[in-house]
Amino acid sequence: MSDDTQLLGHCPNCDAAIPEAWLLVKYTKDNGATGIWAECPDCGTVVAPA
Ligand SMILES: [Zn+2]
Repeated sequence: MSDDTQLLGHCPNCDAAIPEAWLLVKYTKDNGATGIWAECPDCGTVVAPA
């Protein structure tokens, strides 16, 4: 993985790769893990990248 194209993960709807620039919200879950919401550049849906 290159430094300039960090990925948040993949869209659970269409499996498109979601770059870090599409991050909308970052939050801390009850268990201390970091959760994120991002907009999928392909299908336009707000998703939790997997
Ligand atoms: Zn998608």
